[in-house]
Amino acid sequence: MTGAAEHFSRSYGEARQKFLAAAEAAGAAIRHYVHPLKGPSGEELATDVARFGPLDAARILGIGSGTHGVEGYCGSGIQTALLREGFAAELPPDMAVLFIHAINPYGFAWDRRVNEDNVDLNRNFLDHTKPYPANPGYEELADAINPPDLSPGTMAKCRARMKEYAAEHGPRAMQHALSAGQYTHPKGVQFGGHGPVWSNRTLRAIIRAEMAAARRVGFVDLHSGLGARGAAEIICTEPETSDAYRRMVDWWGPSVRSTVGGGSISSDVPGSIPVCFADELKGREVTSCGLEFGTVPIAEVTVALQSDNWLHQNGGHDNPQAAEIGKLIRDAFYVDADDWKDEVTATARQTCARALAGLSA
Ligand SMILES: [Zn+2]
Repeated sequence: MTGAAEHFSRSYGEARQKFLAAAEAAGAAIRHYVHPLKGPSGEELATDVARFGPLDAARILGIGSGTHGVEGYCGSGIQTALLREGFAAELPPDMAVLFIHAINPYGFAWDRRVNEDNVDLNRNFLDHTKPYPANPGYEELADAINPPDLSPGTMAKCRARMKEYAAEHGPRAMQHALSAGQYTHPKGVQFGGHGPVWSNRTLRAIIRAEMAAARRVGFVDLHSGLGARGAAEIICTEPETSDAYRRMVDWWGPSVRSTVGGGSISSDVPGSIPVCFADELKGREVTSCGLEFGTVPIAEVTVALQSDNWLHQNGGHDNPQAAEIGKLIRDAFYVDADDWKDEVTATARQTCARALAGLSA
């Protein structure tokens, strides 16, 4: 199928409007969880939920976008495509489908991967009363990961330092240092937060409101920014010996990778979305994955994250470089090209259809 580009948008506001219109046209029950802050044009920010199927359905498939803010350009376009195609038009009995749009609406609207608190939401779902996991690699590299300025000289030095670390400890250790989250530098890249942030509390509220009766839950969280352009990986945060992993392979086949043990493109990260579902749905069968789409080479993604963080520690949107860095981060997590949009939409469509079939079996 071609022509997916029309479902994608150039701003959060446009994406939200398209999503809500498509959800309404498809006959969804819609709920809005309004965020306390506004977007760059003064627009309302919200996590919007579109539901198909009975509230007491025993089986529910959730499809989420924008956990990582700016990655919502990808995820929202896919959700709108599925809604317009009638993905949830004919559901088996006792089945519901829940689209959760812009889980981190502030990051989406303001072109950031993190949220309004500089927190990576996908590292925030852990027990904040317990000691936080350490990330010694990050500690060692903090100055290189968070450069004091973006001059070519400084950036070259930071790159060299990270290269040196990778040569000494291996590329996986480097990736872990950079991406596995940290709880010691609130103003740094990859901060996981010191308490449950708005999007964390909101997602929990959504799960409680919408999935209370569910016995079997599937969740596909749409991400972008890791992997080769247009390539997809289904990321399982549980070990290959777990029931969840086995179910995922059963539903989706060999594109499933576990972050535990290093088979995945992603590091094994603490406090990610599947922890939230497991917490809130104890005793139920939960199959919660990240569907990750590749965009640009990892070196470019790293520079975009460093630049974004520097910007927001140096005046943010008032900084004269704000527009340029906003584009840099958008381009790192969203390929604004028709073939890419077709490819990610086709993969997501198939992944969600298989999840539905898996839950129906
Ligand atoms: Zn992501």
